[in-house]
Amino acid sequence: MAAESTQFASTEFTNPNLEVLFSEKEIQDRIKELGAHITSDYQGKDLVLVSVLKGSCVFLADLMRAIDLKLTIDFMSVSSYKNELKSTGDVEILKDLSNSIRGKDVLVVEDIIDTGLTLSRLLDILGSRGANSIKLASFLDKPEPRIKTELSIDYTGFVVPNKFVVGYGLDAAGRYRNLPFIAVVKDPSAA
Ligand code: 5GP
Repeated sequence: MAAESTQFASTEFTNPNLEVLFSEKEIQDRIKELGAHITSDYQGKDLVLVSVLKGSCVFLADLMRAIDLKLTIDFMSVSSYKNELKSTGDVEILKDLSNSIRGKDVLVVEDIIDTGLTLSRLLDILGSRGANSIKLASFLDKPEPRIKTELSIDYTGFVVPNKFVVGYGLDAAGRYRNLPFIAVVKDPSAA
């Protein structure tokens, strides 16, 4: 029987077309810091982490394990501008929360805030549901294209330049979500 090959000519993790912005180690260190802040801020609160699918699933999985509190999680999915030319701010709820947030302390967990249009609409929707508090944790903050400048991010992982980034949950046409780091695709036509 042939020995199982452990050699790969090229893998997604070593793809030379990717320029790493934040390494796996940098990300994990930052998540520990965010988790410690949130643990301290939410003592005695009824915390529910609301993850906005699909991009924030990796961030949620790491962040929740860095928060040393009793908490619950829930998921929402909303339409984003990625299939269109630009963000319109119109948000369609594709999947709503499974449980009521009335009286809860909600921390919305996002992958990246860009123009802020999607998030600000989502916060309007959640704001009418009787939560005790609603705050925002975004893994990445891309402030340059921000239209909703009044949007305040309570917990930010990293600030990124105005470039299209992938990895750690963030995709380009469905690909790259599994990268354990954040990267820029150097040549999109060669991707
Ligand atoms: P906004 O309404 O803030 O402009 O849109 C935010 C959404 O756009 C994010 O949740 C994400 O899905 C997508 N997005 C914005 N910037 C990037 C980026 O650099 N990379 C990827 N993969 N998605 C992005």
